[in-house]
Amino acid sequence: MAQRTFSIIKPDAVRKGHTGAILAEIEKAGFKIVSIKKAAISVEQAKGFYYVHKERPFFNDLCAFMSSGPLFLMVLEKDNAIADLRKLMGATNPANAEEGTIRKKFAGSIQENAIHGSDGEDTAAFEIGYWFAGCELI
Ligand code: GDP
Repeated sequence: MAQRTFSIIKPDAVRKGHTGAILAEIEKAGFKIVSIKKAAISVEQAKGFYYVHKERPFFNDLCAFMSSGPLFLMVLEKDNAIADLRKLMGATNPANAEEGTIRKKFAGSIQENAIHGSDGEDTAAFEIGYWFAGCELI
């Protein structure tokens, strides 16, 4: 059954000019881009988005990185979208990411790792609602 997930092309990938290549990987893997928008987010917005990580030692660095430049916010759809996007992304640390994954190809470090993807149904619902209004999902 078609499922929606939320994704971000992170500031490092946008800065390096990898947006088009990452979108091509996503479409080639069978995802429909339901909505996409470019944004420059504030540290406060990043903190709200990543609140589940607020106790982790890298939280402040992560939020500063996510607000360091423009990024692309996306809602993607396909059967099994949440798990399939996680597979396509690869491991958080690109050093551990499988060959052929987006992070293996485009990520520079465990923090600056090119792409975000929701890790479960509840997370996807929260994350889509955090960045998109219902009328933008077409
Ligand atoms: P993801 O689901 O693979 O994105 O990984 P997590 O949910 O565990 O972490 C969220 C994001 O925080 C990651 O994508 C990285 O950008 C960053 N991050 C995770 N672990 C570390 C770490 O050990 N150090 C730093 N600096 N950033 C990290």
